[in-house]
Order: sequence, then C-alpha cells, then structure tokens
Amino acid sequence: KSGFVTIIGRPNVGKSTLMNRIIGEKIAIMSDKPQTTRNKIQCVYTQEDYQIVFLDTPGIHKPKHKLGQYMVRIAKDTLREVDAVLFVVDEGTSIGPGDQYIMEQLEGIETPIILVINKIDKMNQEDLNKLYDKYEETNLFKHIIGISALEGANLNNLINLIVSYL
Ligand code: GDP
Ligand code: MG
Repeated sequence: KSGFVTIIGRPNVGKSTLMNRIIGEKIAIMSDKPQTTRNKIQCVYTQEDYQIVFLDTPGIHKPKHKLGQYMVRIAKDTLREVDAVLFVVDEGTSIGPGDQYIMEQLEGIETPIILVINKIDKMNQEDLNKLYDKYEETNLFKHIIGISALEGANLNNLINLIVSYL
C-alpha cells in the first residue's frame, strides 16, 4: 500500500515534531509514484507493507498578507489530491481563530480529514474531552485522535489510521 498525506495546522502545534517522530531514524526516500510538480514531497515513510508520502501544503495557514488566488488554489488542490489530511491542533479548551480559519478552508473537501489533537501530555482528560466534543460538533472530521508527538503517545494508532486510507 502506498499513498499521500499532508499535515496542516497553525505554527507551533507540533507538525514538525510529529513528522520527525514518525520518520525517526528511517531514511526518507523519493517515491516513484507520479505526482504533480507543485506538490513538494516533505518525506517518505517506508515500512515493509506500506509507504506514506508526506506532501507540503503551502498557503493553507492564515496569510499575513493577502495571498494570491493561485496559492489558495494550489493549497486546495493538494488537499483534494492526497489520500488523507492530518489537521493538527494543540492543547486548549476551545477552537481558536487560527484553527477556525483553516477549518473554513477545509469545507467542501471530500478527502478524509483526521483531526490530531497534539500535546495531550499537557492536558487533563476533562479538557481533552471538551475539545474533542467541540471538534466533533463541526462534522468536518472522519476521526479525532489525541496524541503526544513529543512523547510518542498514541502514535501507533495514528499511523494505523493513516494506513487505513492508503
Ligand atoms: P510546528 O510549527 O507545527 O512544526 O511545531 P513544532 O513541531 O516546531 O513544535 C512547536 C513546539 O511544540 C516545540 O517546542 C515542540 O517541542 C513542542 N511540542 C510538539 N509536540 C509536543 C507534544 O506532544 N507535547 C508537548 N508538550 N510539546 C510539544
Ligand atoms: Mg514546523
């Protein structure tokens, strides 16, 4: 099995930490699967029976200046072309404006979106449940999963979830 995934989310939610944690010591190799040149490969995670290619999605984060329609279209095309989108948020009890902005971009996208609540090592169960419920109400996500990219908690479940969409 082989497929494409993109990780999106506000700055500092832990996207790089998550990717490094998944890749670990494994060497990232280039996929021979055809792809459009505008999609930048960030890394490739290769296991015996599956391969996950992580693509960069530029321009999905709230721009500091007015972003050209072209960039927005590229970002949305990427979201449509991957097999699954990982939307990473971090600890809190409500959905902030930055996350709201990204969620607006996700509306109408048919690709399965997995909401990843990161940094659960900093959260108590009650706050995690509250946040979970708020995201569930939006009906935007196929799955909602809590992880700690830093400590590795629940990462195997996340990877299994990704693999189920390849
Ligand atoms: P990015 O901007 O989304 O790529 O975020 P980074 O991966 O650079 O992480 C931003 C900060 O959050 C860094 O200081 C990380 O060490 C921290 N961080 C990332 N994941 C976790 C986590 O699961 N738990 C905690 N406590 N901190 C984390
Ligand atoms: Mg980063």
